[in-house]
Amino acid sequence: MTAKELREKFIQFFQEKGHAVIKSASLIPENDPTVLFTTAGMHPLVPYLMGEKHPMGTRLTDAQKCLRTGDIDEVGDDAHLTFFEMLGNWSLGDYFKKEAIANSYEFLTSPKWLGLDPDRLAFSVFAGDEHAPRDMESYELWRSMGVPEEKIFFLPRENNWWGPAGITGPCGPDTEMFIDTGKEKCCPECSPACDCGKYLEIWNDVFMEYNKTAEGDYEPLEQKNVDTGMGLERTICILQGKSSVYDTDLFLPLLEKIEALSGKRYGETEEITRAMRIVADHIRSAVFLLGDDRAVTPSNVDQGYVLRRLIRRAIRFGMQLGMAEGFTPEVAEVVVSQYQDAYDELTRHRDFIMDELKKEEGRFQRTLRQGLREFEKVVGRLKDGKEIDGISAFHLYDTFGFPIEMTVELAKEKGLTVDVEGFEEAFKEHQKKSQAGAEQRFKGGLADQTEETARLHTATHLLHAALRHYLGDEVAQKGSNITAERLRFDFSFGRKVTKEELGQVEAWVNEAIAADVPVTMEEMDLEAAKASGAIGLFESKYGEKVKVYTIGGYSKEICGGPHAAHTGELKHFKIKKEESSSAGVRRIKAVLNDG
Ligand code: ATP
Ligand code: MG
Repeated sequence: MTAKELREKFIQFFQEKGHAVIKSASLIPENDPTVLFTTAGMHPLVPYLMGEKHPMGTRLTDAQKCLRTGDIDEVGDDAHLTFFEMLGNWSLGDYFKKEAIANSYEFLTSPKWLGLDPDRLAFSVFAGDEHAPRDMESYELWRSMGVPEEKIFFLPRENNWWGPAGITGPCGPDTEMFIDTGKEKCCPECSPACDCGKYLEIWNDVFMEYNKTAEGDYEPLEQKNVDTGMGLERTICILQGKSSVYDTDLFLPLLEKIEALSGKRYGETEEITRAMRIVADHIRSAVFLLGDDRAVTPSNVDQGYVLRRLIRRAIRFGMQLGMAEGFTPEVAEVVVSQYQDAYDELTRHRDFIMDELKKEEGRFQRTLRQGLREFEKVVGRLKDGKEIDGISAFHLYDTFGFPIEMTVELAKEKGLTVDVEGFEEAFKEHQKKSQAGAEQRFKGGLADQTEETARLHTATHLLHAALRHYLGDEVAQKGSNITAERLRFDFSFGRKVTKEELGQVEAWVNEAIAADVPVTMEEMDLEAAKASGAIGLFESKYGEKVKVYTIGGYSKEICGGPHAAHTGELKHFKIKKEESSSAGVRRIKAVLNDG
């Protein structure tokens, strides 16, 4: 059976049992600002579980797109993904435990449906505590299906209780279904509650029968609901006889693509396997986030930040595998073609997905290598300590675009920790400063002449860096002149700069603008500035303090300022003219516009 067939079978089964088919809701919750993503099939249905009438009736079924960032560290094991599909069915005050358990059992074991061997199944039910009784009803119902008693485990609240979603509201016991993988019991008490891997959870039936009051009491609910969720990837893994969700037909084409792009073999070493799984998982999640009708784009806040983290983490592991720049859209293409039938939004948003991936990869690839070098330096400076300080972590974030989680992960690989609180303080401090800057600029009048000059000034630094990037270190500033309309930059270079080279330089500067990195300033003495790799006119006297302006990972230059606060303010950079200025000196005139 393929994953596609499983999705269809599940829906068909519940359709035959009188359930209306609903469409997967967005991955970005529409009516719930308290969570970033839809994490379960029931999430978009909360109002109906609370009693509101659903327009499609009291029995529903669907395949819901889910994203769980909380599982990101587990990605790469056999059973956890950040994005996965949850197959679900609901009874909104309609049938209850009896039908729900009979349906689950039939779907799992009937040869017409999944045809799983009952001997391979195990179940858990709520053991009871001071708030609610042991769920004997579910136990008896499983027994009546023919399940032997030793295959039913009574587990406590932490395993077999759901909700309420907030402090008060519907909640109740659940009963979970597991595949017994056949592995040896890890200990005499081995049960589905332990994570030794003997039992793999595939389905969860939640029975909402209580209302938790503000006083903390559990009173019987008037409208009793059933809410179930089956993991598509885990179930297909079992049906295809595989030991990991990554070895199913959902991931094989992706892994093949990654193999082709990296020249490495899946399974070659544990490290390669894990890295390939992470790349596949994260790009798949990114495709679904970018392809959603309520799409997010990479940014530094909320969902956009998670998306950025996923893409950047994929890039880091991709690079570790030796994949060349530009691999993210290539892998993404495979995801889109694989899911085009089930999720047509991916096809509709295909160009957007690829564009955004390309842009984010460009932004990050530029600074990644440099950032990793900087990280090594930071580690080298740690004499005896085992903790990377907050300021250094903030520098990696601010200048090289390293999400803090990534710095923490890199540190962990070296047995080190990061002062995350210190990072957050540095972050807040920086926000305060840039806010103050913005207010001051506002007082000076928006878009006045000095502001335009500051932007052109920043553009000049980027142009200088881009020229050195493409033409080499031979390029040195010989003169610069800025008017309100344009910049003029003279530099040493022995020949005419070709059209193609000018195109590259322009694109490089525009990339830096699109990356919207902050421009930061530090005062230091000339020697320290030179040692830090800053370029520029070294006119100052020995021992004098100079200002060094850093533009993300793009440029570091000695200069008096003033500058834009963020490269994004530059909007778009265009070279108007390249000509000879004097022997061995070229001149470029360029402008900033809205693009
Ligand atoms: P686990 O404890 O194994 O992480 P869970 O208790 O978090 O699972 P539920 O919240 O009950 O899982 O979700 C219902 C179903 O969704 C699970 O039975 C499983 O099949 C699937 N599922 C949950 N988390 C993931 C994940 N990160 N990747 C793939 N499938 C998942
Ligand atoms: Mg979990």
